[in-house]
Amino acid sequence: MKAIEVKNLSFAYGQQKVLSDISFSIEEGEYVAILGPNGSGKSTLLRLLLGLLRPQKGQILLFGQEQGKFKNLNWIGYLPQRAVHFDQRFPATVEEIVGMYGSENLTWALEQVNLLEKRKELIGRLSGGQQQRALIARALCGKPKLLILDEPTSGVDPAAQEDFYKLLAHLHASLELSIILVSHDLAAVAREVERVICLNKKLFFHGSKEAFFSQEEFARLYSYPVAWLKHSEEAGQ
Ligand code: ADP
Repeated sequence: MKAIEVKNLSFAYGQQKVLSDISFSIEEGEYVAILGPNGSGKSTLLRLLLGLLRPQKGQILLFGQEQGKFKNLNWIGYLPQRAVHFDQRFPATVEEIVGMYGSENLTWALEQVNLLEKRKELIGRLSGGQQQRALIARALCGKPKLLILDEPTSGVDPAAQEDFYKLLAHLHASLELSIILVSHDLAAVAREVERVICLNKKLFFHGSKEAFFSQEEFARLYSYPVAWLKHSEEAGQ
């Protein structure tokens, strides 16, 4: 089944057109990156998928159902941008934050991200990487089929980023979770995902990451030689 089907979607904030005639689909179980320069409409597309905005034109189907009529909202877990950074004294424990939208699967969710032993600690006492894992656990509490992450590694140190991508790969494989990752981290995208959707108001590319990172597609979009990417991957190892 398709997790997401977007057909001829257009959206504007007032007079400002942000997305124009976008069509693509994501199969259940796929790991997909959404790429595009700043202001290209990535976050807007996520807000439309989540029903926080309504399209002016076109259609969004979630697991075969029209977005507006889709009732299984727990099938979609969402990690918004800049969600991490709780103050040291933020008065809530890990389990309170993780279970805030529903605690039925709390223990299971904490186990998935390896934070069960931290459940009674104040969230602000955890490292940035651990806080991020707690937010993943919160998104997992509804036992989602699809996880949507908006720039999840911004503000997280490189070692924790690596652990975070390992965790995503593990969840993708062990839970057969579909993942949509909005990211600027091209080296991580090249390493981690299976398919790429590239936006710049219009749909620029949708296909396998191998095709995207082939000389022509990648260079056409970013005007960088492919060697740049190879270099940044090596530097990251
Ligand atoms: P991205 O996530 O790719 O950086 P966004 O979807 O956040 O892009 O933004 C796309 C465009 O829409 C930008 O020009 C941005 O300024 C504009 N925009 C985003 N949110 C709003 C809003 N709430 N009201 C008006 N314009 C917005």
